[in-house]
Amino acid sequence: MIIQRVVLNSRPGKNGVPVAGNFRLEQTTLADTVQAGQVHVKTLYLSVDPYMRCRMNEDTGSDYLRPWQLSEVADGGGIGVVEESQHHNLAKGDFVTSFTWPWQTAAILNGDSLQKLEPQLVNGHLSYFLGAAGITGLTALLGIREKGHVAAGANQTMVVSGAAGACGSLAGQIGRLEGCSRVVGIAGTDEKCSILVQEMGFDAAINYKKGDVAKQLRELCPGGVDVYFDNVGGDISDTVISQMNQNSHIILCGQISQYNKDVPYPPPLPPDTEKIQKERNITRERFLVLNYMDKQEASVLQLCQWIKEGKLKARETVVEGLANIGAAFQSMMNGGNIGKQIVSISK
Ligand code: NAP
Repeated sequence: MIIQRVVLNSRPGKNGVPVAGNFRLEQTTLADTVQAGQVHVKTLYLSVDPYMRCRMNEDTGSDYLRPWQLSEVADGGGIGVVEESQHHNLAKGDFVTSFTWPWQTAAILNGDSLQKLEPQLVNGHLSYFLGAAGITGLTALLGIREKGHVAAGANQTMVVSGAAGACGSLAGQIGRLEGCSRVVGIAGTDEKCSILVQEMGFDAAINYKKGDVAKQLRELCPGGVDVYFDNVGGDISDTVISQMNQNSHIILCGQISQYNKDVPYPPPLPPDTEKIQKERNITRERFLVLNYMDKQEASVLQLCQWIKEGKLKARETVVEGLANIGAAFQSMMNGGNIGKQIVSISK
């Protein structure tokens, strides 16, 4: 069977900006036989995510991420449907997902590496399992629960950077659902800021590309910042940390502003910011969602319930076709649209 796949064509270099041309679409042949324990799957949705930038380097800089190899198929979060099964627990027609789904239109995968999905949990909106009801939603929810120290009734103010992104847009809403009394987002366009406030229930949002972020933050968070959900790092985070309260908490989710730079993860804070962090006893512990997978099942149920009840708004941009996955990745790394960026594979 002839299928299409996307391989890593070139590396952007540790300090380079990734482009669509770093990927290459090609045809390949899929074996006709499905061995014991394997399933033949048709790919339906693929996810593009910031961590993939690290996988484009020869050395990812982290022990839990493998680098993609040149001219070899890329992989990441994916969803598909089983077309043929030789696995005891999977049958034709089952919807399945994996964190290491190959970027190809169909594949033969080890059934043990797949998780079965229950489409009714998201009213059939399968791609949510890559976003709000998947690893992105889990990152927002577990980041807040494990590192945020949010308590209902404690009158806490949360600030979210990268607030219009997949994680950030959910984190602000979940911060509110978990008990924060005020939620302020930081995002890169007026349109994104307006959606955060009007659709997603943020109290306010700051366009960091316009005006004085520190001044706006002081006005919007008059009692200081108690919880900071940090997706971006860099100057924005230094500004937020300078306005954090004594004994407050940073949820160190990601540092996307530093991913095209050859720096360790997490990048060390500049001396002035580190001084503030220490003097004010601000926690900034590393957070990795994969360390909390024992809480995955219950957390996904919680996320799905909020989505169904309309309490958690999930925005996504769906790009059609495997041929466009490199462009979708490039766009996502440049800010993209609000919410989760997904690639739909129709054939
Ligand atoms: P995303 O959807 O691409 O969102 C990232 C957001 O950051 C975008 O909305 C973007 O838009 C903003 N941004 C991009 N570059 C920026 C810069 N230089 N300065 C300020 N803002 C910038 O990504 P995501 O999936 O939400 O992931 C967010 C972060 O979480 C990433 O750092 C990712 O690595 C991390 N993450 C961590 C875990 C974990 O276990 N810790 C799990 C998943 C993801 P605008 O610039 O237009 O606002």
